[in-house]
Amino acid sequence: MIQEPYTPSKESILIVDDTPANLQLLAQLLSEQGYKVRMAQDGTMALMSIQSSPPDLILLDIMMPEVNGYEVCCKLKASSLTKNIPIIFISALNEVFDKVKAFEVGGVDYITKPFQAPEVLARVEHQLHIRRLTQQLSEQNALLQQEVHRREMAEAEVRQSLSKEQELNQLKSYFVSMVSHEFRNPLTAILGFAEFMRDFSQQLSEEKKQEYLCQIQESARRMTALLNDVLSLGQAEAGKLEFNPESLDVEEFCEDLVEEIKRVNSAQPTIIFSSQTQLTLACLDKNLLRQILTNLLSNAIKYSPEGSTVKFNLVCQDELAIFHIKDEGIGISPEDQQRLFESFHRGKNVGKISGTGLGLTIVKKAVDLHGGQIAVNSEIGVGTTFSVAIPLNHPSQSDEKESD
Ligand code: ADP
Repeated sequence: MIQEPYTPSKESILIVDDTPANLQLLAQLLSEQGYKVRMAQDGTMALMSIQSSPPDLILLDIMMPEVNGYEVCCKLKASSLTKNIPIIFISALNEVFDKVKAFEVGGVDYITKPFQAPEVLARVEHQLHIRRLTQQLSEQNALLQQEVHRREMAEAEVRQSLSKEQELNQLKSYFVSMVSHEFRNPLTAILGFAEFMRDFSQQLSEEKKQEYLCQIQESARRMTALLNDVLSLGQAEAGKLEFNPESLDVEEFCEDLVEEIKRVNSAQPTIIFSSQTQLTLACLDKNLLRQILTNLLSNAIKYSPEGSTVKFNLVCQDELAIFHIKDEGIGISPEDQQRLFESFHRGKNVGKISGTGLGLTIVKKAVDLHGGQIAVNSEIGVGTTFSVAIPLNHPSQSDEKESD
């Protein structure tokens, strides 16, 4: 950018004096130097002129009738609009002139009559130079303050992303320790039972062998479920959880799933499936539906005492498939109910029951992908009911059909 050279004509000076001859003399002297000169013959006129257009410098006579120079100066210094305009007092050599007062009320210099032209010009130019420098300084100051503010904002952003990263790191290490722990238990069980069966095969009754095989199967199932949860959560976090709806009979799907769970959970609470529905054909994502129901049924079993009953009910109505999973288990406190779907959150009710706090997070994401809803109703010591409602045909699917 080309900087314009400084031209004195751009600065304006107001001369205030009740003697016309003085006004004329000073005005001529300063105009010749290129300054824009304005004049006022008394204090009141001067104040009005300054208010309507503040000049860059004021030459102010002290001895004036009505409002004298000191009073004009005080008024100007009291207003934020005019307080920074430099004021040079004018006084006659023979006048009794209080120089200290002149500075006290805010004057920056004084000149005496009769005027010495070079001295007047030197004093005027000197004050204008200081004013220019002061203005530059305050502009630079404003820029600096902007820069400081910008840096503070940037710093705050960095601090925020750092703490987010720390939070993520904490979550990661929690995740690693939780997953290793949750894998170690079923793995130890699988290894232990397999070794036992190999080493003591002769001594074991057929019944015992079946029991151990069931334990191995259950442990492997737990690991598969955990792996599925971890993979789904990873995909969901990356926004890549796939949604592939396909035609399926919901009732048949539920019956098969219950049989599968019963096979590996023979000694656990009994699951009783019921359906009040005739038309159960739907278009849903099989994998996601399996994740939803498996997680809810496993939790119902896990958090209920042996010998109790888990009721699993399906209703298809008003274009919705509604699943109720009702247990007679330990129940969930109202505070924990608020945080059920947060990753890794485990309720205070869990005691020694193992888990990751991921199951319901996945369930919620899978329900959301179907455009459905999930609700919970629970009472400590009485039991819990999870209800899931999902459209039998996902809206996007019906749109496609309509447009076909
Ligand atoms: P977890 O692996 O701990 O079971 P979930 O995400 O599946 O994780 O469930 C989160 C928490 O919700 C559990 O830790 C438990 O406190 C509570 N919860 C979920 N389902 C039930 C239930 N049927 N009965 C009692 N508490 C439950």
